[in-house]
Amino acid sequence: AKDQGRGCFAYFSEDLTIAARERIELEARLRRAIQQQELCVYYQPQVDIASGLIVGAEALVRWIDPNEGLIPPARFIPIAEETSLIEEIGEWVLRETCNQGQYWLVTGLPPITLAVNISPYQLKRCDINALAATVLAESGFPAQLLELEITESGIMENQDNVMELLDSLRSQGIRLAIDDFGTGYSSLAYLKSFPLNVLKIDKRFIDDIPYSKDGMEIAATIIAMGHTLGLKVLAEGVETPEQLAFLRERHCDTYQGYIKSRPLPAKEFANLMHSQLDD
Ligand code: C2E
Ligand code: CA
Ligand code: CA
Ligand code: CA
Repeated sequence: AKDQGRGCFAYFSEDLTIAARERIELEARLRRAIQQQELCVYYQPQVDIASGLIVGAEALVRWIDPNEGLIPPARFIPIAEETSLIEEIGEWVLRETCNQGQYWLVTGLPPITLAVNISPYQLKRCDINALAATVLAESGFPAQLLELEITESGIMENQDNVMELLDSLRSQGIRLAIDDFGTGYSSLAYLKSFPLNVLKIDKRFIDDIPYSKDGMEIAATIIAMGHTLGLKVLAEGVETPEQLAFLRERHCDTYQGYIKSRPLPAKEFANLMHSQLDD
């Protein structure tokens, strides 16, 4: 491809080629990373606002490249979603998280909910219901402690069979959360028809506290409407005491955010849980 660099047309196609080549390269590296077990799961605490206790954790995938170090999911999940790799990664994260959760239970950590992200593409392409049943049976982790996080687009893009799918997940005992709420186009009234347990308010609304009155009204309204629909409400990306005070005042149920902890490797998360037990 070296001698294609002459003439205007070739410049354009070379640009495209570089972008495309980078994508293909990353895809190949990601495939290898999965085989060589370079993926791992970090856990971010979910905290009950009233008691201050950790009641759950969100499982967040990480790619630790031996040369580059930590590669954030924003760099590789979108590429995985364009290929079938997201199915492999999603299945691996689910299995890893349930095995870890069961290990924590048998080693005496108090039961907490573990939340796993499900990509819209996974919903579309693979049988999540059967997969979850298999993974729960193999790991022994209780379905009642597993929560699946689905985004609005996951629901909107799978309208035909999503209701049936969510119903069968719920009848297994699995909990369902709507992730990044407020970033899509669905209304709470529309979501009301789906069998959800938790509504996660997107960080962008939390960022507004206490700087924008409108933003705060929106956050407060989402909390109130979520409760009206019988949902637990979790705030994402809480970083300051002001934000936490506001959420407490508005009776938000739980939160995640750097103010408590960044996502942690499994061992460090377990240590944090142990220090909570000692308090
Ligand atoms: P998400 O599901 O919305 O996850 C929350 C993201 O917010 C995480 O980023 C988390 O580290 C970050 N976060 C949490 N608290 C704070 C805070 O107080 N301040 C700030 N600035 N950020 C905070 P992360 O781990 O980089 O993940 C990014 C996205 O990648 C996730 O967004 C999710 O969409 C996707 N992702 C991560 N793991 C998986 C996975 O296993 N499967 C799938 N399908 N997607 C995943
Ligand atoms: Ca999530
Ligand atoms: Ca989210
Ligand atoms: Ca997000």
